[in-house]
Amino acid sequence: MIKLRGITKAFGRNAVLKGIDLTVEKGEVVAILGPSGSGKTTLLRCINYLEKPSAGEISIGEFRVQCKKPAKKDIQALRRKTAMVFQQYNLFRHKTALENVMEGLIVVQRLPKQEARKRSVELLEKVGLGDKLDAYPSHLSGGQQQRVGIARALALNPEVILFDEPTSALDPELVGEVLAVIRKIAKEGITMIIVTHEMGFAQDVASHIVFMEGGAVVEEGPPRALFQSPKEERTRQFLARFT
Ligand code: ADP
Repeated sequence: MIKLRGITKAFGRNAVLKGIDLTVEKGEVVAILGPSGSGKTTLLRCINYLEKPSAGEISIGEFRVQCKKPAKKDIQALRRKTAMVFQQYNLFRHKTALENVMEGLIVVQRLPKQEARKRSVELLEKVGLGDKLDAYPSHLSGGQQQRVGIARALALNPEVILFDEPTSALDPELVGEVLAVIRKIAKEGITMIIVTHEMGFAQDVASHIVFMEGGAVVEEGPPRALFQSPKEERTRQFLARFT
């Protein structure tokens, strides 16, 4: 359902992605693992054009973008099909939890305000924040802010949610509540690509694991195979650090 072909990206002379191919089926949860600096976040950001790939092709369903010469409307279409959950939440500071979730529904999807409100309340209840609708981000914990970020991504009804290290800015005691919410929505069959350092979480939530190093995919496969009998020495060495 999502196909990346030959995704290449350089920052100046630094070749960060060296032709990445990746296929993600509908409803699949893909975890991208790898050492820091291997290009995981850049790859995720290329999928919705927060970074512009230098070359390659991105397809979501029937929709296809040639990264070298994308039309402006193609970039907009790509962004509408994807939603990103950021490491630093990226909420509007001057808007309440409810208003943060409503924003995309009103501005992007052009829903009438009442409808947007109803849907946003439902989503905030789903992430366990039904009692925080009117709270501003500064009055929420990091875990709660990230759950607002997840509700906001769900509100856009995207074909895929891209999670960029969603728990790495959190205090350890707040990680669990955010992972629990991601686990819950994964069970609903929403397609997800998650960059994470949470190995245990990746192992039990992901249906497919991709291990990246140096801007390339070193190895990929089902979690069991990858964690228990990695084929590549580099994968083995990386995973050994977490056991
Ligand atoms: P990871 O997510 O695996 O830690 P990143 O995708 O964040 O890796 O970064 C990969 C490489 O790209 C790193 O060398 C990083 O310094 C570089 N990089 C990332 N973003 C930028 C940027 N905006 N400008 C220049 N270099 C960047």
